[in-house]
Amino acid sequence: MSGYHSAQVDVPVRLNTNESPFPPPDGWLDAVADIARSIKWNRYPDRAAIELRETIAGRHGVSSANIFVANGSNEVIQTILLAYGGAGRCVATFEPTYQMYSQIARVTGADVVQGERRADLSLDPMEIERVLTRHKPSVSFLCNPNNPTGLIEPRANLEAMLKHATGIVVVDEAYAEFSEWSAIDMVSEDLPLAVTRTFSKTLSMAALRVGYVVAPKQMISDLEIAVLPYHLDSFKQSATIAALGFVSEMEQRVDTIKSERSRIFAAISEMDCEVWTSGSNFILFRPRSSLASVVWQRMVDSGVLVRDCSTWPLLSGCLRVTVGTSDENTAFLGALSAALSVK
Ligand code: PMP
Repeated sequence: MSGYHSAQVDVPVRLNTNESPFPPPDGWLDAVADIARSIKWNRYPDRAAIELRETIAGRHGVSSANIFVANGSNEVIQTILLAYGGAGRCVATFEPTYQMYSQIARVTGADVVQGERRADLSLDPMEIERVLTRHKPSVSFLCNPNNPTGLIEPRANLEAMLKHATGIVVVDEAYAEFSEWSAIDMVSEDLPLAVTRTFSKTLSMAALRVGYVVAPKQMISDLEIAVLPYHLDSFKQSATIAALGFVSEMEQRVDTIKSERSRIFAAISEMDCEVWTSGSNFILFRPRSSLASVVWQRMVDSGVLVRDCSTWPLLSGCLRVTVGTSDENTAFLGALSAALSVK
């Protein structure tokens, strides 16, 4: 196997990993400094992370028994796959989508079946039915909005998944705040549905590594068996509780990102590029007459890093840009326009 990589190049404008361009609020930084002094560092953390789970549960109007928290939603996904994947089982993804589903599933020893999106990168519910009824996966992933396409899934696709699922259905909502609908309200004790969220994007805390899942109680109990004891350190538990006091401040920034997203989308549409409508904090585009890898390199040379997706399934010729600050986006548009105009 090869690992999961995103080229990290030391340039002034880094728009390749879908982080928030804004730092967390100062008030949270002050709280974190106090927390660092008050932690009982010689003691293990609260293994069940009760206070943190209750705080997150309150945000979504569910019970703390419906919440599992881990070190980034990647670790949530890993724990789900440790619990429900593994040798002799199969995991379904619909490509192109977030690559870690397949990567982690294979690491657990599961087989991966990859359904395909249409050429326009939308997902046909008939394809969901075909894959789920033929392969009977233990876990099926739907990323909404989808990374790396940015497309919002129609509700009908989740309905098709739940209708045909023999195992559990995971909706990854890493970018939900930039989107139009969430599946969290659908979580109930009698549906095999789990919805994952992260603090890395809207909440500006990619460095803290926190993510969680909202799921039926039985599923949460299963995840607690699979995860390591004390996986969530005391500092992180307290810092995350403090962060939840600033949610509305951070959500206000979503509007700024959405309006910058519209500006970038309109500008790329005017260039010699195909571009996909995004419900997320990034945009996928395909230069029409220039090679993506050449455009990528020219942009790096002018100090702007985007993600080169051109070797991924169904994405030949595609690049993906994360929406940054207004200045970063202006730098990106300038670099792209210059890179496309070189003959
Ligand atoms: N899901 C999707 C769709 C993502 O794009 C990412 C981050 N790139 C993650 C999950 C993982 O996020 P984190 O581990 O930072 O919560």
